[in-house]
Amino acid sequence: MAGRTVLTYHPLYNGRGFSPVQRSWGRYRVALSLFDDLGLFKTLGQVQQRPAGLEDLFPVHTAAYVEYVRRRDAQGSGYLDQRDTAAWTGVFERTLVAVGGTLEAVALVGSGAAAHVFNPGGGLHHAHRDRAAGFCIFNDVALAVHRLREDYGLGRVAVVDVDGHHGDGTQELLYDQPVLKLSLHQYDGRFFPGTGGVDEVGWGHGYGYSVNVGLPRHLGDAGYVPAFQAVVPRALRAYRPQVILLNFGVDGHFADPLVRLWLSTATYRMVAATMHDLAHELCAGRLIVFGSGGYDPQHVARCWATLLATLTGHLPPLTSQDSGYRSPMPGDDGQQSGASDAGRERSDFLWPGRFAVLEDRGGPVPAPEALAAARASAARVTSRVLPLIEP
Ligand SMILES: [Zn+2]
Ligand SMILES: [Zn+2]
Repeated sequence: MAGRTVLTYHPLYNGRGFSPVQRSWGRYRVALSLFDDLGLFKTLGQVQQRPAGLEDLFPVHTAAYVEYVRRRDAQGSGYLDQRDTAAWTGVFERTLVAVGGTLEAVALVGSGAAAHVFNPGGGLHHAHRDRAAGFCIFNDVALAVHRLREDYGLGRVAVVDVDGHHGDGTQELLYDQPVLKLSLHQYDGRFFPGTGGVDEVGWGHGYGYSVNVGLPRHLGDAGYVPAFQAVVPRALRAYRPQVILLNFGVDGHFADPLVRLWLSTATYRMVAATMHDLAHELCAGRLIVFGSGGYDPQHVARCWATLLATLTGHLPPLTSQDSGYRSPMPGDDGQQSGASDAGRERSDFLWPGRFAVLEDRGGPVPAPEALAAARASAARVTSRVLPLIEP
């Protein structure tokens, strides 16, 4: 669909990252190389953002906390929180660059210079007003909501968070505001960060605007896709946003070391295509996407390429039938002759030519009890939470 797509990127992304999973720091380098191989830069714009300024942080964070992060950077060791998020020389600049990418995205989309912008270093959704958590220092998502409202008059913002962890910082910072916060995440009450239950619906002016779809581990595409489709389009059509923010953490992929949702690139493609369609249907295409979590560089790169190939129109549009993805099965490389021929044709159509490398082959088989649990979770949301904001 029409509308320019832009990637915000800064050379510091290719340095040390926020998580202790050292191999994940290379995800930007691997991803850019894959985007190039796939020819995505022919239609994808690229902008190098300026780092955010200190004053850019104050709408969401306290001056004392900003100063604390700067001091820990100067000390150059230890942690910013309870031993998840390290302090190191350069971490302050690095996080200002991540926030700067999101503010650049807001400027591009807010001004109409671009329809869709992807900041792979953004989506730091665990950061709170005065504390770091879960590899997140400053909450660029909440800052984006503030900037869109104050500078561009775009106050009806929907935040859809498909990272495998609950977007707790974003939810807390916007809990009393009528900003739609919709999060699908692995949830059992103990899995990090521990929040994101269906009863967390917001309060005050934000009552009904926090929508949490907690999902069981070992779910797979077969359980995730119906839950997503039952909740997300309906919630967005009820809310009618002026702009959509998509926290596109891909740590739910089955190759990821931190989350156990067992999703494949087909699900991330369904998410990208559905959100892209909804952005054009509801808000003139205005869609800002953040990279957020994802700790296996090869698979992060493939999920991000799937997103960008969808936004730039390189992958064919999905029909509703296509979005009922089959789950990846072990050894699904075509032993049954008749079925495999049909499967191959279908696959060539859905993942044509050079984009075939984006399709996952193989993967774990979902647990049947997980499918039932996900169905029940989505049903609780559609029966008890969505009616709170439906006209
Ligand atoms: Zn578009
Ligand atoms: Zn995550």
